[in-house]
Amino acid sequence: MPSRDKGRSNQETRRRVLLLLSSSSYRAEDFLAAAERLRLDVTVGSDYRAALADEVAGSTIELDFEDVEGSIEAIRRLAEDRPFSAVVAGEDAGTRLAAEVSEALGLPGNSPDSVETCRRKDRFRRALAGSSLSSPPWRTFPLETDARAVAGDLDFPCVVKPVGLAASRGVVRANDSGEFVSAFAEARRATEESGGEGPILVEGYIPGKEVAVEGILAGGELRILAILDKPDPLVGPYFEETMFVTPSRLPPAAQREIEATVARVTTLVGLREGPIHAELRVNEDGAWPIEIAPRTIGGLCARLFRYRTGTALEELVLLHALGRPLPRPPEGPASGVMMIPIPRGGVLASIEGIDDARQVPEVAEVTITAPLGHHIDPLPRGNRYLGFIFARADSAEIVERALREAHGCLDIRIEGEDVG
Ligand code: ADP
Repeated sequence: MPSRDKGRSNQETRRRVLLLLSSSSYRAEDFLAAAERLRLDVTVGSDYRAALADEVAGSTIELDFEDVEGSIEAIRRLAEDRPFSAVVAGEDAGTRLAAEVSEALGLPGNSPDSVETCRRKDRFRRALAGSSLSSPPWRTFPLETDARAVAGDLDFPCVVKPVGLAASRGVVRANDSGEFVSAFAEARRATEESGGEGPILVEGYIPGKEVAVEGILAGGELRILAILDKPDPLVGPYFEETMFVTPSRLPPAAQREIEATVARVTTLVGLREGPIHAELRVNEDGAWPIEIAPRTIGGLCARLFRYRTGTALEELVLLHALGRPLPRPPEGPASGVMMIPIPRGGVLASIEGIDDARQVPEVAEVTITAPLGHHIDPLPRGNRYLGFIFARADSAEIVERALREAHGCLDIRIEGEDVG
């Protein structure tokens, strides 16, 4: 090997990935386990060091995700001895900083502009507007708008949403002027509570089935990893996601169209590297993009990928970040996850029947993530998960049935009242 190449390969083995995880991340355990399995050198950047200190054996760095300049400086210093190959955001909170740091350090990654287009729902709609992709009519209104005064100009049904929030928070369907006034108030309250800014986006309601798509981009080339059906109807007024099941039961032609649409969306918004999570609706007019984000699926849901293929999604993300070739894990028959719905707001007093749920033969895992004794809220207010049920089986139908059966075993008591 010529000496120059040898030097490069030595440097390569000393390279590491910077993984951004927020203090409230659900993703730390799985990303760190993947890093350990692959013996990768991962440094965790978190906005609250103590939250991760126990879990992270390797190095950590405390970063203020909102302080882009300060974070870039701190990371630059850390990278002096041993460079980073890439910056990976574990969830939405880190995507902007990951893009800014990648740009500043000359690492492969997504441009800050492309990430901003994904984060801001109005910018996303504007990006689609110039394309032939299906997109509903939309308008934005400043936060202080008198909703009553503009309701008469709108077409119904519509969906009202904060432009910068995630996980369906503050997203409300309105079927008439009266519902619009309260939906607008809800979206405004969610925006203000989160410290976010306006405007409020109002877009036409897209009927149809909803799917999520997981993929990974390398140099702008998209590899689809899974199409996930959402078997529960999502018709509003709130859009609580409860289940993802893969493989999709949509006809092959619809699946091909979904894949092609997601590939076009990534190009359109300018995403080029790393994981993507997209949401689309599908109806007789085709596939309609709802959103795309430069991260993996949220909560613990990514585990459904491991239950189907034996390989963790996080392993693929980290391998890609190091510039290594990605394996093609063999696909098992079917897997799925239920995000246990939060029946109502209040203090989570107890959850019984967890062992019974685990006894359902196809159930692979039941994990409760909400701490007992704490207040939890359903949508449109809540942004935390109660827990997750995973199943794997010979078909998507059996997976769905098993998830429902396991959920039926749970007796969830909120503030002492029996609502499970
Ligand atoms: P968030 O990023 O907060 O999840 P989204 O824009 O993805 O916000 O909307 C959340 C959910 O609301 C979607 O998954 C979908 O079920 C529903 N939704 C959003 N926009 C529309 C729309 N135009 N038509 C129908 N349903 C929609």
